[in-house]
Amino acid sequence: MAIEAASRSTPRRITILGSTGSIGCNTIDLIERNRALFEVAALTANGNTDLLAAQARRLGARMAVTADPNRYAALKSALAGSGIEAAAGPAALVEAASLPADWVMAAIVGAAGLEPTLAAARRGAIVALANKECLVCAGTLMLREVADHGATLLPVDSEHNAIFQVFDFAQRDKVERIILTASGGPFREMDRSAMARVTPKQAVAHPNWDMGAKISVDSATMMNKGLELIEAHYLFDMPEERIDILVHPQSIIHSMVAYVDGSVLAQLGTPDMRTPIAYTLAWPERMPAPAQRLDLGAISRLTFAPPDPDRFPALRLARAALKDGGAAPTILNAANEVAVHAFLEGGIGFLDMPRVVEDTLERVEKPALNCVQDVIAVDREARETARARLAPARIRA
Ligand code: NAD
Ligand code: MG
Repeated sequence: MAIEAASRSTPRRITILGSTGSIGCNTIDLIERNRALFEVAALTANGNTDLLAAQARRLGARMAVTADPNRYAALKSALAGSGIEAAAGPAALVEAASLPADWVMAAIVGAAGLEPTLAAARRGAIVALANKECLVCAGTLMLREVADHGATLLPVDSEHNAIFQVFDFAQRDKVERIILTASGGPFREMDRSAMARVTPKQAVAHPNWDMGAKISVDSATMMNKGLELIEAHYLFDMPEERIDILVHPQSIIHSMVAYVDGSVLAQLGTPDMRTPIAYTLAWPERMPAPAQRLDLGAISRLTFAPPDPDRFPALRLARAALKDGGAAPTILNAANEVAVHAFLEGGIGFLDMPRVVEDTLERVEKPALNCVQDVIAVDREARETARARLAPARIRA
């Protein structure tokens, strides 16, 4: 497809799925700093209709959509007199993603983002993918849709964006390994008995990154790195055994690619998502982003360590699910979404999360996934099974 660069004379038309979240707000911050380069087709969110309406008014969006049908009246009244179309519900999310736009940010959290993200891919759009869960739960199908419709997938996740920047796609057979770095999260050095008692508030307080609640908890269990392992497998067509995970607490090296000649290429920067988002917004060119500049002299020391599989069982579960293939990653993701939600609500303890995922993986059948409906059916069954595991998991803790 013809890629129009951000510096061209007509603005790039964009849609943001999940505009009120951490990634969505960072994307809007960049757009507002470079207003002449972009025009906005649609913005979508779930609950925060006041923020959604304010964003839509500021950016002159054509359409604003809340996923929650009960919020339609609130959104409609917040947009009164603006001329911006208001809509609500899952079908309206797909409609928003289907509006003509050159570039779509997929930043809904969880498998809830799958259908609108697929709708954008089916239009042949450039899809900036933050929503790793939709690649984890439907990787093969999503890549097929992207290829069939001439869409372009650009990774926003900082690790995958780093790899994308240093991966030699013309010589992919000369890539030996990819190395995903991981901060290790807030409990990197905590022993398991202390982990059993951590609260949701402690778990969402990430040392380096300011992110939404779900990914922050995933970072604390290191399930985030497990999901990213699966994400990297699909994005870069790398087998599980050639993807390494390396704990790097400073979050300066965002990931690396190792080549057959012994060269290792890395992308570095301060931990600020506006850098990878800007890379995708301007791609294939570059645009300015206001992230704090990297001063390696001041940082002086970068450290590295292998991850601890005993304290962070999520890594083992994700590796096993990726090796199993088929529906296993879909089940892993769905069970994890249920477990993280239950933990955030105070229903289960921190260590119960990987237990719920493991129990669910053992119990749910793994049929072949031939279409999106198959993914949705397995996702639903895994969620029901995981919910049924919540109560016993709590008693055992
Ligand atoms: P967030 O919770 O801050 O925001 C999520 C957005 O999705 C919000 O706009 C919310 O209204 C919307 N949303 C939530 N549930 C929805 C539903 N059921 N239907 C439709 N919309 C819904 O999350 P975030 O931190 O911005 O993360 C978004 C995605 O990007 C996640 O998949 C996450 O893993 C990924 N990601 C985030 C970061 C980060 O720095 N925050 C980094 C890498 C990847
Ligand atoms: Mg990441």
